[in-house]
Amino acid sequence: MTRHIIERVMSVLLILCFLLLSWQAARADGEKKNEEKNYRTVLVDPGHGGKDPGMVGAGGLEEKGINLDISLKLKKRLEGKGFHVVLTRETDEGLYDEQAENKKLQDLKRRIRLIEEESPDLVVSIHQNSYEDPSVRGPQVFYYQGSEEGRKTAEIIQKSLNDGLNVQKPRTEKGNAGYYLLKNSTSVTVIAECGFLTNPEEARLLQDSGYQDRIAAALAEGIEISLLQSGL
Ligand SMILES: [Zn+2]
Repeated sequence: MTRHIIERVMSVLLILCFLLLSWQAARADGEKKNEEKNYRTVLVDPGHGGKDPGMVGAGGLEEKGINLDISLKLKKRLEGKGFHVVLTRETDEGLYDEQAENKKLQDLKRRIRLIEEESPDLVVSIHQNSYEDPSVRGPQVFYYQGSEEGRKTAEIIQKSLNDGLNVQKPRTEKGNAGYYLLKNSTSVTVIAECGFLTNPEEARLLQDSGYQDRIAAALAEGIEISLLQSGL
């Protein structure tokens, strides 16, 4: 009788073990599939930070904080779409050492080093613009002059920003051969200047969380489209 009970208990345990192993195998398989689907990495670079405020607009409004706000929102949006996202900074700190002689150069070099280490499918650097004429406004996307992949990506993201922000006088993407990040990046890189801090109305909007959300949504959509189209 006792032996019979032991045999039954053993059978039940065996079945349980089998079920547990099958479940774990199925789960591992699911995770692998997820990884395969979400392999694309986007590196989001909030420009400036720490001692480098970036562009300073009317009333002492600093570019670095707006760049970070938009970048953090963009990270969430992209992760929601299944991308792996790397940020160059997540706080108000530059990538330089306090004792560095040329903090700006060290900061930029470290951003490039991070791109080399992560080798993302796309780099999007977030900045704000300025101009002497305060009536000038609207987003503009830059790419490395001569990079066809960069140009295509910038074109798609520019269009997404123009549409998403309902821009009245839409700009076109622009090539640039001088920006350090564009020149030295080892991945396809675009710089998104989201708006002008020198335009009072746009400067107000750029500090508004709802408007920052719209920018992040438009950027995320443009990034998704460009990565799908380029097959990167
Ligand atoms: Zn900037």
